[in-house]
Amino acid sequence: MRRIALLGATGSIGRQAREIIDGHPDLELVAAASGSQPIDGLAPLTQVGGDLTKLLEAAEPDVVLNAVVGFAGLPATLWALEHGVDLALANKESLVAGGDLAVAAWKKGGGRLVPVDSEHSAAFQLLDGRALETVDTLVLTASGGPFRGRSRRGLVGVTQADALVHPTWNMGPKITVDSATLMNKGLELIEAHFLFGVGYERIEIVVHPTSIVHALVRFRDGAALAHLGYPDMRVPISYALTYPERAATPIAPLDLASGLILEFSAPDEEAFPCLGLARAAGEAGRTAPCILNAANEVAVASFLDRRLPFLGIPDVVERTLAAIEPASARDLDDLIAVDAEARRVAGALTRELVH
Ligand code: NAD
Ligand code: MG
Repeated sequence: MRRIALLGATGSIGRQAREIIDGHPDLELVAAASGSQPIDGLAPLTQVGGDLTKLLEAAEPDVVLNAVVGFAGLPATLWALEHGVDLALANKESLVAGGDLAVAAWKKGGGRLVPVDSEHSAAFQLLDGRALETVDTLVLTASGGPFRGRSRRGLVGVTQADALVHPTWNMGPKITVDSATLMNKGLELIEAHFLFGVGYERIEIVVHPTSIVHALVRFRDGAALAHLGYPDMRVPISYALTYPERAATPIAPLDLASGLILEFSAPDEEAFPCLGLARAAGEAGRTAPCILNAANEVAVASFLDRRLPFLGIPDVVERTLAAIEPASARDLDDLIAVDAEARRVAGALTRELVH
């Protein structure tokens, strides 16, 4: 039996994870948490809001599935890594904001970290057991979101409803907006850097509208391996929860003869500046990714509230990054302070843009 603590149990990932756990006799849900929705009876231990590490201490799980959205997931990520408890990680923001601390905790704790993000699950499978020096580049695919092909001018005045329709994935609102701005791929670039220890210059982002190829690795001998599958998060969730067993799932096998379209193109970084902002923040290192993430969370929340315009999102992120000097963070408290400062600055900039 594998005892699972599911954080973010009521979200898009959380609900799909419950389906996978229910369908597998060796997976047992021992603890569940949500941010605000009631979850009575979902698991022997439940918690709504508050300090999630308290719940983890009490539950003593074998695996933590962190499917919380945003910076709020960071303490739980660090807790699992420090305690050497296996971590199935959907909450990419925690690795973006706290990458250096997370990697240090992971090394110290010695547990397993299996990504749930589909591109990273794919890359994990492609890289599993291979020496990094044989890798030339890691390629992550982006669907391009609902506004793929539009110019910057074509993005003026797009609405929340326009942004919330994702062409290939059905996800929570924050990541759906991140997919529309391409910040999601920017966060994933930083996530991949910390997960796989690959330099930013060796990670490429490519637009692939049908989301069939999730990641690809080019090796030094000229060979390239790709990971394919229908866009369905139950696959990477099940992979992470049952690793290395790769349990069966109810997902249909890939039908190659039914007209799969595998098209690739370079992202338009002028229309979608968030990708370049994330790459620059990743390369700058220290607390720059934490600042980027906090500013993005504030800007996206304001956009979802119908206040900040869509193009205000990269604006707020860029100006927040320019306003705060990145420093090194020694511990979680340092990051919480940087996150709060970046939220304060981003909040003020957002109000300026709204009025
Ligand atoms: P969602 O908005 O649907 O769900 C978020 C969950 O987090 C909810 O259960 C909510 O109650 C909980 N939560 C929010 N704030 C909390 C807090 N302060 N404390 C405890 N719980 C809190 O989001 P989602 O789409 O399921 O995404 C979850 C995470 O997984 C995000 O980091 C996202 O980037 C990542 N992810 C999601 C998908 C997807 O298909 N949905 C794919 C890849 C990665
Ligand atoms: Mg992804």
